[in-house]
Amino acid sequence: MKNFDTVSLSFDTNNHDHGRCIHTAMKVADKLCLSRSVRLTPARRRVLELIWESHHPVGAYDVLSRLSQESGKTAPPTVYRALEFLMEQGLIHRIESLNAYVGCAHPAEEHAGLFLICTDCGCAAEVHDEAIDQAIVTKAATLGFRPEQRTLEVRGTCPDCRPNT
Ligand SMILES: [Zn+2]
Ligand SMILES: [Zn+2]
Ligand SMILES: [Zn+2]
Repeated sequence: MKNFDTVSLSFDTNNHDHGRCIHTAMKVADKLCLSRSVRLTPARRRVLELIWESHHPVGAYDVLSRLSQESGKTAPPTVYRALEFLMEQGLIHRIESLNAYVGCAHPAEEHAGLFLICTDCGCAAEVHDEAIDQAIVTKAATLGFRPEQRTLEVRGTCPDCRPNT
C-alpha cells in the first residue's frame, strides 16, 4: 500500500500541493549534500529546482534554455556538469528512453529507479519497492553480474489519461 500511495501522489499531478514536493526535495538535497560535504552550488541547486518543477521528466536542453532565460546565456557544459553531479548524488534519475531527468524523492537510499511512464502525457512516477530492487540484485549476483546503474522503465497510461471505465 505504501508504494501505491507514492505512485498515486506522483501521478496526481494537478491535484496535489506540488510546492510541497519541491520544498521537501530541496530540503533533503541541502541536508544530503551537507552530510556528504559536497557543494550544492547555486547553479546545481537551480538545475535541481527546474527538474523538480513538475513530475514530468525534463531534458537537458530545456534546463539549458530556462537557465539562459533567467540568467543570460548559459554554457551547455555548466548544465551537463550540474546534471552529472545531481545524478552522482542520487538526487535525480535519468530516464534513458526519454533522454530526460526526473527528481528522486529518496536520494539518501541506494535503490534502482523504477519508473512508470505515461506515454500520453509524459509524466513519470517512481516506485520504491525494496522487493523488486532486491530481486534484481539477487538475480544479477547469481549470474556473477554486478549492477551499477539500474533504471527500469515501464510504459503505460496514467490515471489522468486513462479513459473512464
Ligand atoms: Zn509533486
Ligand atoms: Zn529514486
Ligand atoms: Zn498521463
